[in-house]
This record gives sequence, structure tokens and C-alpha cells, in this order.
Amino acid sequence: MKAEIIAIGSELVSGQSLDTNSQWLSRELSALGIPVHFHTTLGDDLDEDVEAFRNAIAHADLILISGGLGPTQDDLTREALARVAGVPLLENAEALDAIAAMFARRSRPMAERNRVQALFPQGAEMVPNRVGTAPGIWMRVGQAIVVCLPGVPSELRIMYDEQVRPRLSQFASGGRVILHHKINLFGRGESDVEAAALDLTTRGRVPEVGITAHDATISFRISAEAPTEAEARRVMGPTLDLIRERFAELIVGEGTADVAEALLAQLVRTGSTLATAESCTGGLIAQMITAQPGVSAYFPGGVVSYANQAKQELLGVPASLLEAHGAVSSEVAEAMAIGVRDRFHATIGVSATGVAGPTGGTPEKPVGLVYLGLATPDGKVQTRKLEIGPEQPREIIQRRAAKHALNWARLALLQFPSK
Ligand code: ATP
Ligand code: MG
Repeated sequence: MKAEIIAIGSELVSGQSLDTNSQWLSRELSALGIPVHFHTTLGDDLDEDVEAFRNAIAHADLILISGGLGPTQDDLTREALARVAGVPLLENAEALDAIAAMFARRSRPMAERNRVQALFPQGAEMVPNRVGTAPGIWMRVGQAIVVCLPGVPSELRIMYDEQVRPRLSQFASGGRVILHHKINLFGRGESDVEAAALDLTTRGRVPEVGITAHDATISFRISAEAPTEAEARRVMGPTLDLIRERFAELIVGEGTADVAEALLAQLVRTGSTLATAESCTGGLIAQMITAQPGVSAYFPGGVVSYANQAKQELLGVPASLLEAHGAVSSEVAEAMAIGVRDRFHATIGVSATGVAGPTGGTPEKPVGLVYLGLATPDGKVQTRKLEIGPEQPREIIQRRAAKHALNWARLALLQFPSK
């Protein structure tokens, strides 16, 4: 079985929004063992839709289409599909009831134009939508199965999960299952990680292991193919264990988990609290921590002390220190970490001060130079110097610095006993 995904929406081809539905659907189909051979993205244009549907039906056995099911004039999926199938559009009473019921639940009158959403090509089945107004379409055209889903990603995902996947597994049975797993590392460069994993990434190895990098987090992507999910898991197991053992402390999580989640896990394990003092990261460290649900008992707060005066008044950094070494110095990073740990009565204090650029760099203190401070119990404090590189854009320098600060706190906590 060969599949094609078609994403419809002028906002997608114009670059205003990114077609994430095709990526999501492809991963889902691949997990069912249905290979996707084509992606087509096109605007809201009837003739082009018709042409794309025709091509897809000639190439593929399964075609998933997202978008163009709305009530407005530029929503043309229904009509294009009817043309390609050579059948008329007919009103489906069940669909009309469902749409009317959706409006009733929201206590809103149903506009006359929403009626078009109950039109289906003759011979098509409705795929109910319990979260929005546009029902989906399931239809056989020639030898191909065509499934149309709304473009709104949350609706598309729920409908796929609840209704499309169960029906597709029946076609996939007897086929093969492809499982994917991700293990995420932070704190080492991609080439270093690659060099330590050459035996894993050789072509043709089973299971397959690839390395990707995103936002300075390095991910091992492991894929295993087998007749059943259980078998694919078994094939993958030893490789996962090997990676977990070899890269132990560098691992910040699996799946979508990144540094901040790993740090929170350590705060919880050790019953510690963390306070943040930020200059060049402008609150990003605190943002990354507070993006984690359940963090409130472990994060009393942080200070964004951008100006020297704020460093003095809010954190107690001595003026003499700022004068002698400058704000971007290991001495000031140290004093910021101690100050914030103290003021928030936290177990550890972490700080960042640096040159985020693109201006403000000097030969001694170039753009990308960042000092981190880490104050731990017993009045201990350490600093670290990061050289992220003057060529990096401001946002990258800030994000890297913030992630390194979180990761450093995580590594320190690894040495703490469990509470
Ligand atoms: P529907 O089929 O539900 O009526 P539509 O095409 O009428 O969809 P739009 O108004 O075009 O709906 O899109 C709804 C929202 O979904 C928009 O925010 C749009 O950017 C988003 N969207 C549409 N297609 C995709 C896609 N392929 N990937 C990600 N987002 C998408
Ligand atoms: Mg659209």
C-alpha cells in the first residue's frame, strides 16, 4: 500500500503558515506500516485541487487530504473530490444534524452557509467531527481510498486518532509496523556525539539509528520495523539500552523531553528549589522552567537584572565588583548566583551574564561570551565560561546560554541524594 498526503490552503503555499499536518499524518501512517511516497501542498483553487487529486489517485492507494472543508467559498475539497469521482454532491441528513447540533451546543445560530458542510460526493461516507463543524469524508475513488479531514490541526488529529486510524489498521494488518523512538542529549556537540556512536549509525544496521540536532539538543532517532508492534519493540530494546548506558549523564529525556523537564525531575527527586538571576537571557531560563507543569514547589522565582543598578539593588552584587571586572565576568556571575540563592532561600541559585549581540562585543569580551554561575548549599559557588560564537544570532546565544544554565543545574543535582 502506498499513501499520499495532500495539504490544501493558500496560507500554506504562501508561506504564512507551515504545513504541519502532512508531517504528523506521515508519522502516523508510518507507525501503521503504510509508507508515504508523496506530499502535495497547494492553494485553494478548484482546478488545481482536481488535478492534484487525479494525480494522487493514479499514484497511490491511500490519499489523506487536509483542509478546504470549511463553509466559505475558498473551501473546495468537497467539490473537487466530486468532480474527480464524476459524481454529484448530495446533502447528507446525518451530517446536517451533526452540524446543527454542534451550533446548538454552543448556543449559536447556524448560518445558512454552514449547510454546504453537509454536502458529500455521492457514495462517500461521513467521518464525524465532535470538536468542530466540518465533518470529514471517507470515499473510495477507483482503486484508491480518499480520506478528507479538516485543516485545523487539533480537529484533524482527534478525528484521525478516533476514526481514521482504527479503520486503516485493518488495511495495514499483515503489513509491517515501523516504530520510532527518540533519545535526547544535551551538553555535547553533534560531531562529538556522532564520533562516539559510529557503531550505531552505520547504514543498514538493525534497528536503524540516526542523529539530528535541534536547538543544541542532539537526538538519537531509532527506528525498527517488524510484523507486530511488540516485535518492533523487542528489536529496538537492546539498542535503547546501549544508548542509555553509553550516554548516561548527557541524556535529558526521551520522546519530546528536553533539558527543563530533566532539571525538574532532579529538583523533584532531591526535593530542591532553584532560583534564577538573569542578565543576557532576559528571563528565558525562568520561562523554560515555568513552562513545565508542576514546577511551583521547586521554583520560588527569579530576577531579571539587566542593568548594573538592578544587579546591585536586587541581588547585592557589589558596585566595586562591577567596576573592576565588568558585568560580563565570572566574578559578577558568581555574585549574582549567590545573591539570588540567598534572596529566594533556594537550594541552588543559577545565573547568566553575557554578550548576546549583535553589538556590544569587544576583543576581550566578544559576542557570544557568557558566564554562568551556580551557587549550591554550604556557600559554594562555581562559574563556567561559554563561548557560543560571535557569528551566532542573538536568539541562539540566549537560548543556548539558558539551556546550558538549566543543564548545569541538572548535572549538579545529579550528585545530590534523593530526598
Ligand atoms: P477545514 O477543513 O477545517 O474547514 P479550512 O481549510 O477551512 O479547514 P482554514 O481556515 O484554511 O480551514 O485553516 C484553519 C486553520 O488550520 C488555520 O489556522 C490554518 O493555518 C490551519 N491549517 C490548515 N491546514 C494546515 C496544515 N496542513 N498544517 C497546519 N495547519 C493547518
Ligand atoms: Mg483552508
